[in-house]
Amino acid sequence: MGNQSGRAKRLVIVLLISFVCVAGLYVFFADKQEPQITLMPESKYINEDAIAEIDLQDSLSGLAEVNIVAVQGETEKTLLSHTMEQSPAHWSTTLQVKEMGLQEGPFQLRVIAEDNSWFRYLQGNRASAEQSYVLDTTPPRIRLESFRHNMSRGGSGAVAFRIDEEEKERAGVSVGEAFFPAYHQEKDIYLAFFAYPYNLRAGQGRPVVTVQDRAGNKAKSSLRCSVTPRRQPTKRLRITDRFLDRTMPGFRDAFPGIQDKLELFLAVNGKLRRKNRAKLREIGNHTVSRPLWSGRFLRQPNAAKQSSYAVRRNYYYQSEQISQATHLGIDLASVARARIPAANSGRIVYADRLGIYGQTVIIDHGLGLQSLYGHMSQIGVSEGQSVDKGEIIGRTGATGLAGGDHLHFEMLISGMPVTPVEWWDAKWIENNIVPKLEQAREAAAD
Ligand SMILES: [Zn+2]
Repeated sequence: MGNQSGRAKRLVIVLLISFVCVAGLYVFFADKQEPQITLMPESKYINEDAIAEIDLQDSLSGLAEVNIVAVQGETEKTLLSHTMEQSPAHWSTTLQVKEMGLQEGPFQLRVIAEDNSWFRYLQGNRASAEQSYVLDTTPPRIRLESFRHNMSRGGSGAVAFRIDEEEKERAGVSVGEAFFPAYHQEKDIYLAFFAYPYNLRAGQGRPVVTVQDRAGNKAKSSLRCSVTPRRQPTKRLRITDRFLDRTMPGFRDAFPGIQDKLELFLAVNGKLRRKNRAKLREIGNHTVSRPLWSGRFLRQPNAAKQSSYAVRRNYYYQSEQISQATHLGIDLASVARARIPAANSGRIVYADRLGIYGQTVIIDHGLGLQSLYGHMSQIGVSEGQSVDKGEIIGRTGATGLAGGDHLHFEMLISGMPVTPVEWWDAKWIENNIVPKLEQAREAAAD
């Protein structure tokens, strides 16, 4: 008896140890990790052109099955049901929203994936992911409020228009490759200032109001616009050693690797000029959606024009052409260290050194319209400050890439330089800009 009960006890102990071992192995080795699901796009608003991307990962035991379902209201539609054959660690697919047979409005995409794990009594791990979307297939509608546009090459224009959709993502005027943002006024009304770029021949590009909604639907409306051609004059500019000796030391920090002064000039006139122009486009966005200015813009008083807008400059050194650039402002010179009045009312958005422009002030006048004052010897204002028309903002000088004491003056629309001559002309403003501002106001009163 004693012997038998001893053997049974031993058997029980062996069985127990075996069970604990198997259970331990199972718990230890079984893949308890769910498959990982990535569901794109992440944006909520999509149109019919959108493509859903589904990506599954399960590196431990491999994927077994996937189900993709679209849910809209009470309707559930299986878009894809797939059993994997070789337990892949990775699987992905794309589905076109257009093929899903959905109505406009909210819907959900649900992905359910299972792997080949022994876990959960050999059923596999199950994971699900869901993303909510809004399907919008209707493009916004544009209604122009301004019809006639007479422009000159390098000149400015304005347009008032309505958009019937609240969820606009991007609205503005495209001309060639340039884009000028529009600013929301009241109700459904937008106002945009735009330029006919100096580097576009008349007839080469046409101003087009373009609007894109949150889902990516686009609408366009061409503006009826006559463009006066304007010849781009060329000027020969001699670079002397005296000029290089005076101006180049100020640019040593910008290009520490370049020792030769002529090589340094080429880098400044090319690379640095392009970098500064990109900075102006960025500053162009620091604006407000209403005009801060009124009446004509002031021209630097008692100053002679030394260089015009959009002159193509060919630079010569020892009778050899070495560089080329377009001068996109107007140079005005009077006496050294002359006081500079603000051309119109606005807010200072830049007051600092700016590469080739030297000490620079930029005033924002609203709706992307800005005036720039370069080569200053002294800056008397600071960023964020409001200025009135005629208020002194500093003194002229020869800082940056300047041959002598003068004011380099630019008018810009969203960072693109335009001819200042129009903005100095009360009649031009009265005929071309004021009516558009009024159209926006009248439309709001409708
Ligand atoms: Zn200049």
